[in-house]
Amino acid sequence: MSLRIVVCVKYVPDATGDRHFAEDLTTDRESVDGLLSELDEYAVEQALQISEESDDAEITVLTVGPEDAKDALRKALSMGADKAVHVEDDDLHGTDVLGTSAVLAKAIEKTGYDLVVCGMASTDGTMGVLPAILAERLGVPQVTLLSEVSVTDGKVNGRRDGDTATEQLEASLPALISVTDQSGEARYPSFKGIMAAKKKPVESLDLDDLDIEADEVGLGGAWTKVDDATARPPRTAGTVVKDEGEGGKQLAEYLAGQKFI
Ligand SMILES: Cc1cc2nc3c(=O)[nH]c(=O)nc-3n(C[C@H](O)[C@H](O)[C@H](O)COP(=O)(O)OP(=O)(O)OC[C@H]3O[C@@H](n4cnc5c(N)ncnc54)[C@H](O)[C@@H]3O)c2cc1C
Repeated sequence: MSLRIVVCVKYVPDATGDRHFAEDLTTDRESVDGLLSELDEYAVEQALQISEESDDAEITVLTVGPEDAKDALRKALSMGADKAVHVEDDDLHGTDVLGTSAVLAKAIEKTGYDLVVCGMASTDGTMGVLPAILAERLGVPQVTLLSEVSVTDGKVNGRRDGDTATEQLEASLPALISVTDQSGEARYPSFKGIMAAKKKPVESLDLDDLDIEADEVGLGGAWTKVDDATARPPRTAGTVVKDEGEGGKQLAEYLAGQKFI
């Protein structure tokens, strides 16, 4: 039977642009360009490598996000994923990690899966907790923060490099993994891949399709809230310490004055 892989990918504001909060203190996604989160490219890459090692695998990329999030799905499809699912609904605006994980879980169950692959964190929210919550919601083992992954004989194996130890982990499928930015460079889409992606299926789902009530998600259903946000002050000109024999001392005094040391 085919190995069904679902990769969760997030459409995020381009980190090189000028990012803001909107008036309701959610991330302003309207006025900035977005893209497939770089950290999720690693997840797509690992799914592609698992698929290439398998006799019969199918990769679905899944996102919960606004209309433009289709761009992230197209990029993943052009890298080589087979099909995409886009959960989009006006009532999702302001959904926090608990709501997002609930929506993803329903969409994954509807799609069918043996292995769910996530990135280590998104590059906007950077909570890094969604994979763990999602595994709990799906009721499957979670093997997170892997830098090396393989799937054999109905099991997923991986290496997790911690600060003090390296662990070799294994779980029976169905399971969820997350992969780090140390798992291997993500491939660039080829011209052929970009052309092929235009014809690959993208299924759109809304909250009704997933039997989710509007009040379970959105700002109203969120368990977390941004109370306040202050814009970062503009950059000031740096302090230049000229070394005329006393440079080291002056530098130490400057750092001490700033309470860095
Ligand atoms: C108070 C609050 C308000 C928010 N309002 C909005 C909003 O208005 N609009 C909005 O788009 N987001 C909003 N978000 C963020 C959004 O819901 C996040 O996707 C969610 O909180 C996950 O957290 P994270 O991005 O830090 O994920 P992490 O836990 O850092 O992500 C880890 C991995 O989970 C997967 N993942 C995360 N998010 C998604 C996703 N959306 N689709 C598919 N895979 C995903 C990816 O594989 C990613 O690498 C809000 C969050 C909070 C806390």
